[in-house]
Amino acid sequence: MKMQINGKAVEACGGEFFDVKNPATGELIDRVPMGSENDVDMAVGAAAAASGGWAATSPQQRGVILYRAAGIVRQKKDELAVLLTREQGKPLFEAKNEIEGFANVLEYYCGLAGSLRGDFVTVPQNGYAFTAKKPLGVCAAIIPWNMPALIMAWKIGPALISGNTVVLKPASNTPLTNLALASVLNEAGLPAGVLNVVTGPGNSVGEALVRSREVKKISFTGESGTGKRVAELAAGGMKRVTLELGGSDPMLVCDDAEIESAAIGALRGRFYNCGQTCTAVKRVYVFESVAEEFIKKLEAGIRNLRVGNGLDGNISVGPLNNLSQWEYVKGLVTEIKEKDEGKVLTGGKVPEGCEYEKGYFFEPSLVVDVPRDSRLLNEEVFGPVLPVVTVKDLDEAIEEANNTRYGLGASLWTKNLDRIRTGCEKLNAGVVWINQHLKVAPEVPFGGVKESGMGRENGPDALLEYMDTKTIMLKV
Ligand code: NDP
Repeated sequence: MKMQINGKAVEACGGEFFDVKNPATGELIDRVPMGSENDVDMAVGAAAAASGGWAATSPQQRGVILYRAAGIVRQKKDELAVLLTREQGKPLFEAKNEIEGFANVLEYYCGLAGSLRGDFVTVPQNGYAFTAKKPLGVCAAIIPWNMPALIMAWKIGPALISGNTVVLKPASNTPLTNLALASVLNEAGLPAGVLNVVTGPGNSVGEALVRSREVKKISFTGESGTGKRVAELAAGGMKRVTLELGGSDPMLVCDDAEIESAAIGALRGRFYNCGQTCTAVKRVYVFESVAEEFIKKLEAGIRNLRVGNGLDGNISVGPLNNLSQWEYVKGLVTEIKEKDEGKVLTGGKVPEGCEYEKGYFFEPSLVVDVPRDSRLLNEEVFGPVLPVVTVKDLDEAIEEANNTRYGLGASLWTKNLDRIRTGCEKLNAGVVWINQHLKVAPEVPFGGVKESGMGRENGPDALLEYMDTKTIMLKV
């Protein structure tokens, strides 16, 4: 597949390519251009040239094109989902959900097109003031590999509807779905240069994009360390940033919770996308009195999960996406066993069998009796390993839950209104779920606090991230 610059599929200036491989089989899926600073310059130039024309269209006209694109994406859902599964590894049903999610987000922002407006204010001494919402210009979107389609929509939906042009850089492990979706948007009638995609390494293409003088805003999703680097570079040009970074979401299970639902919630919350979701359940704190029942149900659920190639319709957990995540997860579990830092109740190893030999598979794993200073509780573990810790009450659970540098999501499982109120107030996270975990929706703002980032995606809030307010003062 080629890059998308100025409405055309092009190769990189340097003429080089890199391989995209299937994490379940190691097979080569496709090769994409190895972009460089020159390609970034071309893409940014195209986006800047398209900027005035796109900003001059009405939000409704933009909405018509995005709505058409969402329709084509729905028609092509099955083939796009297969592509996503092949490059990312996730089960096909999850890939279909994600492609549908892409279309849902675009349609949601089409619906908000008519709501883009400024304000009218009277000021003292016979004056009037108007405010107008203005697009920022060229925006950069930097995408991770865990949910490339959905996160692309979270960025381009609000950016494009509010009149900005975009240069997108996919993760190097999953560029194909982003390229295919960009070509659908162009097919739907997006003017040349409004959406461009440059493939290539983060530390060269990504940084060139962030540094580019013409780029007015960077919307980045990825690891917290990379986010800090992006923020540092963006500060040099005083650029706007939205940072959606890592998380270590806690799940708190009280003694009055519906234990069966909580166990299912933990199962889905941790093992969806092979644990590679920023808002996955990464730590469970369960009241001592119900811990045995909860752990028993959870363990039974985990033993029922089927690991395999995402294209096999019967599996529930695919491979990890890449070698470094796989090595990290294997290393972490080996360390737990060697240092006796917890008891692995199920999983804890690479599955056996020839179908697993060429992929980055790891058995869904449950670990109990984990010491508080374990890496498993303190790092962002992006993989299928779930630690469960027992606590005596809600105060202790909340204290443990908040004892992290992250603050993306947190869930509380209880039927008690007082506990719900306490959890909503005291859990220090961008999203607090009650009796559920993981759910996101285009209508609802999403983002983190602390080192999980800044700014919000989704909902009307995301539109504000892509517009400036211009004030016009009148004296008549
Ligand atoms: P990375 O931070 O490594 O990469 C994310 C993107 O940034 C990729 O496109 C990458 O390119 C690019 N990149 C890497 N280095 C730079 C740089 N110096 N300047 C500019 N861009 C750069 O994260 P991962 O892709 O490994 O994603 C996993 C992480 O993302 C997890 O920690 C997860 O929690 C977090 N995440 C957070 C989400 C949220 O909403 N809060 C959602 C999803 C993931 P390349 O691939 O070429 O290296």
